[in-house]
Amino acid sequence: MKLKIGYLYSDLLEVYSDRGNVTVLQKRAEWRGIEVEVDRITIGDNADLTDYDLLFSGGGEDREQLLVAEDLLRKRESLFKAVESGTVILTICGSYQLLGHYFETIGGNRIEGVGLLDLYTIGGKKRLVGNAVGKLDFLGSDLTLVGYENHSGRTYLGPGVTPLAQVVAGFGNNGEDGQEGVAQGNVFGTYLHGPLLSKNPVFADHLLTMALARRTENPRLQPLDDSWELRAHDYVVKQFMQTGRR
Ligand code: GLN
Repeated sequence: MKLKIGYLYSDLLEVYSDRGNVTVLQKRAEWRGIEVEVDRITIGDNADLTDYDLLFSGGGEDREQLLVAEDLLRKRESLFKAVESGTVILTICGSYQLLGHYFETIGGNRIEGVGLLDLYTIGGKKRLVGNAVGKLDFLGSDLTLVGYENHSGRTYLGPGVTPLAQVVAGFGNNGEDGQEGVAQGNVFGTYLHGPLLSKNPVFADHLLTMALARRTENPRLQPLDDSWELRAHDYVVKQFMQTGRR
């Protein structure tokens, strides 16, 4: 069995080791004997996004987002078809913002999103920076997601979508409503860098399982020894418990 991952705008949207998420997905699949192909797709490429089981894109600066946004609008139809075909989408920060209706930057630019998800983003003067912990809204009630956030954009979810997690510590989508990221079917967005998946192996496997479901019925991943990953995860959670910071 082969898993195809499309890495969108790896040359432009890549902050805080976001590319590590692709490595984590690839390795966790390979360690289970699943062959993985990773294709990098960038501005001007005419890729058929339905070819991919999983599409990933990272975060970036407002300037880069402007460039990417124009291209993403050209890929819009292909992206929508991919989502319909069950392709799993994971977007971090800058690319998460572009899945919504628009991002109005602090510099006064209005960047049009692809409108895949009912959300919009407004840039704020004070950047929202630091480690963050969120309680996942699915996958078991006690499961937490940890990561690092650094964004000026405040994202607000519309009634058509649900958050990925509830903020336990840090800022999340906007520092106001206690929501972090978005999860709608096979489409995920989050403000958490890290790279996110290295410290959140359960979430990584959840994405892999969803992606493999395009290839095979009821995919089951053999368990891995995640002791190091979980140590890193628990370290961040404990830090917040000790300081009591929200
Ligand atoms: N430029 C966006 C913002 O500041 C995204 C930042 C990021 O991807 N880390 O909100």
